[in-house]
Amino acid sequence: MQQKLRIAVQKSGRLQDESIRLLREAGLDIETGKNKLKAVASNFPVELFFLRDDDIPQYVFDGVADVGIIGRDVYAEQASANTVVASLGFARCRLSVAVPADVAYTGASWLQGKRIATSFPNLLQQFLDQQQITAEVHVVSGSVEITTGIGLADAICDLVSTGSTLASNNLKEVQQVFASEAIMIANPAIDEARRQLLDCLLFRIAAVQKASRYKYILLNCPDAAIDAVTAIIPGMKSPTVLPLATSGWSSLHSVVDENDFWLRIDQLKAAGAEGILVVPIEKMIL
Ligand code: AMP
Repeated sequence: MQQKLRIAVQKSGRLQDESIRLLREAGLDIETGKNKLKAVASNFPVELFFLRDDDIPQYVFDGVADVGIIGRDVYAEQASANTVVASLGFARCRLSVAVPADVAYTGASWLQGKRIATSFPNLLQQFLDQQQITAEVHVVSGSVEITTGIGLADAICDLVSTGSTLASNNLKEVQQVFASEAIMIANPAIDEARRQLLDCLLFRIAAVQKASRYKYILLNCPDAAIDAVTAIIPGMKSPTVLPLATSGWSSLHSVVDENDFWLRIDQLKAAGAEGILVVPIEKMIL
């Protein structure tokens, strides 16, 4: 029987939906049901294990799973010895120190001698050591943001993305300690057969990630403008140029990076392009 690549994903929480969505976009036909602990893909030798994300690094290191999807925050907090094989670009957040909104925070030295509640004692301690600050670190496993209000702590160190949870607890973010996003980790001693499956999966993930950064662009332009338009959107090799039924005009197809998309559009219009259509790309293989 063919070996399966065993992938650990979060059982419930913020990472789960996006992890499964990424694997599905990479072409894996995964059936998930409520309260299921395992799932398989019908079209790729993969088995998914649904686990607590804090437990995933250890399961991967012990070889119970080959690969796991977790936050970089958890990986760094546990000083995990697994290999990071991909940055996945979702669940972006930061581990930050926050203090009550009415505190006049003057800089890291304000934290000297203070009580700070966190679920990330190691990352916080590293930050405090770097800043040469001595503080009392109180480890709590959840609801960190209420600890200042109930008199347990003077400050907190917790994950933030929009800041709305902090604001609703009358806290303000004052200091970033660590930047996180979802990552894929792998057992460093993964066997050769599974390594090949992992390489195949990583190749597909890279194609999905690349595609999400680029758009397919179609436009019409006078033949005399083809060179100028090509210089603006050179594409992967060079644009496709097709004659229009109207003589003296062509249709030009290319790809454009989302980051400089609006800049290019303005340049294209100035060069004489018309009828510009922009459509998403599903996969991109270079
Ligand atoms: P949770 O489901 O709350 O246990 O969070 C799981 C992971 O999602 C964390 O380890 C972070 O990597 C990420 N995460 C946590 N909080 C946020 C947030 N506010 N915004 C985005 N990602 C987050």
